[in-house]
Amino acid sequence: MNFDVIIIGAGVTGAAIARELSHYRLKVLLLEKEACPAFGVSKSAVGIIESGVQNTPGSLKGKLCVEGNRILREELDRELSLGFKRRGQLITSFSEADTERLKIIKFEGEALGIPGAEIVGRDWMDEKEPGLSAEVKAALFCPTAGTVNPYIFILSLLESALANGAELKVDSKVSGVRRCSDGLFEVSAGRIKYLSRFIVNAAGFFADEISALAGIKDFKIARLTGEGYVLDGKPGCAVKSILSRLPSGDPGEATVAETSEGRISVGPGAWHKADEEDPAAAERRKEEILRAAGRLFPSLSEKGVNVSFSCPRPECGDDFIVLYGDNVPGFINVAGLRSSGLTAAPAVAVKVRKILGSHGLDMNLRNNFISLSAVSPCDFKILSEENPKGADGCAVRRGGTVPARAEEDAWPARELLKAA
Ligand SMILES: Cc1cc2nc3c(=O)[nH]c(=O)nc-3n(C[C@H](O)[C@H](O)[C@H](O)COP(=O)(O)OP(=O)(O)OC[C@H]3O[C@@H](n4cnc5c(N)ncnc54)[C@H](O)[C@@H]3O)c2cc1C
Repeated sequence: MNFDVIIIGAGVTGAAIARELSHYRLKVLLLEKEACPAFGVSKSAVGIIESGVQNTPGSLKGKLCVEGNRILREELDRELSLGFKRRGQLITSFSEADTERLKIIKFEGEALGIPGAEIVGRDWMDEKEPGLSAEVKAALFCPTAGTVNPYIFILSLLESALANGAELKVDSKVSGVRRCSDGLFEVSAGRIKYLSRFIVNAAGFFADEISALAGIKDFKIARLTGEGYVLDGKPGCAVKSILSRLPSGDPGEATVAETSEGRISVGPGAWHKADEEDPAAAERRKEEILRAAGRLFPSLSEKGVNVSFSCPRPECGDDFIVLYGDNVPGFINVAGLRSSGLTAAPAVAVKVRKILGSHGLDMNLRNNFISLSAVSPCDFKILSEENPKGADGCAVRRGGTVPARAEEDAWPARELLKAA
């Protein structure tokens, strides 16, 4: 089977790339090792579409977050009916000195292209965020941030890609990448071999292993984890924005947000190596994070924890990697999306499309691009080559069955399961 592009990994990054490429007359294949898309890091995402603030000026991550946020708000929300809730992001300061730091962060955010950022004082907060602690002196408000349901986002990207000619094979773990004599790549997944001109490696935690299969060994993925919590009941304190405190080195720092399902999510706190975990330390971290959330919103202190989850992320250096393999032409690494990947994915996809175009892939627009609203919900369980009857995990868009093989720590899936 011959393809123009094989994408390895159907997390949010692979899904966004597949959809972007499906606008063009290309043969695109997405290979996913799990029985269902979005079962890597993407399954833990809270669903915050960040403004892009607090990224280093000039960083690739910063640029891609700001642009990803814009694409989602201005294009994908409408095209995929995502129900993006624009909430704004509020970074709070508890002291005069921190307010001065906020001004620098605002300036850096503006340099990254974040629109509408403003420093707000108590009057603004009392009106817009009345549950916020009286200890908060000022805040930086970035209005473009908001929330989506991460599963609906990822599955809608995929459904749109599939409706426009891309193919997806789940239960298809890539175990080999070989260059053939005619210059094509041969990709082995299970017993099946696929041929392709280009490979995009979007394998999350395993991106270093896939890259090494192709002969590029210049980065290593580390596994860090943190803890997050979904609180009991409805948000009585009406958390309106996505809130965090200016980083101070305090291990209990937490982001507090109302998810698209109307629950309060808190965390994750400080990141640490998973193998250092012990139950007493985990309990301490939980107390620290919940205390930090209570410092922002005193009424949260009274709420219990409904779901706890640990949330690993792939770490490899300070910035995202979106890189064409000059020594392995045709191979593109997209790696190290340890945080903000849900936000950045639409812009990552555009960057990958441009890289492919500049390296000889003909980009002829499809003149009959099918809108998602014209497509029936897709049953992802039928997409496994080796297991055509489908695994017990399946997913359909909006209102149907949701991933049934969600792991214990994948709280969004658990919440959706309860609702289904
Ligand atoms: C707790 C938590 C909350 C987060 N919340 C947010 C948020 O609110 N907003 C935000 O913007 N970002 C958030 N992030 C970050 C975001 O979730 C990640 O940046 C993003 O999901 C990374 O997506 P990915 O597609 O690169 O990786 P993944 O989702 O890990 O996708 C990689 C895929 O590759 C597959 N794969 C691996 N090896 C192979 C192989 N050999 N063959 C075939 N397939 C393979 C995996 O199964 C997986 O499906 C959060 C992260 C965490 C940990």
